[in-house]
Amino acid sequence: MNQTSAASPFIDVRSDTVTRPCDQMRAAMHTAEVGDDVYSDDPTVNALQSLAAEQLGQEAALFMPSGTQSNLVAFLAHCQRGDEYIVGGEAHTYKYEGGGAAVLGGIQPQTVPFGHNGELPLDLVEAVIKPDDFHFARTKLLSLENTQHGRVQSMEYMQSARAFAEEKNLILHLDGARMVNAAVALDVPLRNIGSLFHSVSLCLSKGLGAPMGSILAGNTEFIQSAKRWRKVTGGGLRQAGVVAAAGIYALEHCHEWIPTDHEHAKLLASLCQDIPGVSVRHDWIQTNMVWLDFDGDHQLALPAYTKERGVLMSVGRNAGRVIVHRNISEDDVAVVAQVIRDYFEKRQF
Ligand SMILES: *Cc1c(COP(=O)(O)O)cnc(C)c1O
Repeated sequence: MNQTSAASPFIDVRSDTVTRPCDQMRAAMHTAEVGDDVYSDDPTVNALQSLAAEQLGQEAALFMPSGTQSNLVAFLAHCQRGDEYIVGGEAHTYKYEGGGAAVLGGIQPQTVPFGHNGELPLDLVEAVIKPDDFHFARTKLLSLENTQHGRVQSMEYMQSARAFAEEKNLILHLDGARMVNAAVALDVPLRNIGSLFHSVSLCLSKGLGAPMGSILAGNTEFIQSAKRWRKVTGGGLRQAGVVAAAGIYALEHCHEWIPTDHEHAKLLASLCQDIPGVSVRHDWIQTNMVWLDFDGDHQLALPAYTKERGVLMSVGRNAGRVIVHRNISEDDVAVVAQVIRDYFEKRQF
């Protein structure tokens, strides 16, 4: 399950984006039939798009180079210049995508703070919807994130968001970069989540283990428009079947390892829970991310310490994030916990 044809010398828990294609995935890439996808001639890309649409409960899907481009193209296809989208203040589509919707689409973001569980509280969303008046941007779209920092949005919440969107005449988009993790945690098929939204974006390149790519899905008319915007933003693809084959392998096989990743996150949390100076955000550990809060600032010293011992970690001022994935074994989890413990136990508080 963890086999890779090119192993890294590090235990890398900075992100699940570091996953490397396994030998079976590389074999599928090696034998992929290809064509020019700008002419819709690549049979492997077409097969990936059909499979993804079917799995996501949508009419059609488009293979995108990245998740950032997938969200951007969704907004460009749904909105006009002078429209706005409502989004979480810490959401990826707002904070971590270079302001693309505003920069390239003239689409203004209106942020709302995430609730304690990663939901966007619908009463707060309602309060920022602008009346139809030429003083204001036109509120057009509501963008949710699932998982949000590893936290799962419930079926009930997503259903109520859809009903709310219908009532307010808003388009509902899901940044579902890690929605497979959400589906596994909720124990529902992907389509139960996907079909609640007008459009969804999913990353193949994170916990699913593909080297690159995302899927954007929605109805046929939306995907036709998205295909135009993908070309406009420089994302038209040629013999992309080589990487689409990895995406097909990822969608067909990820259920074999994602549940293990979630168990590994819980195991890591339990191994870290009595480390002095560290508190584990237990209620956030729902999928493959473990959030740790630290007494004091360890932003520079902790990752330097762990790196010398073979562990790559992502650390902010007072908190760290460990993301487990298919290239992290149970033994690796024990090593990560021990290295963090050693660092904090050697310090005086
Ligand atoms: C990773 C990620 C994306 C897309 O990122 P890319 O690196 O452009 O593929 C979008 N949303 C969330 C929540 C993500 O974690």
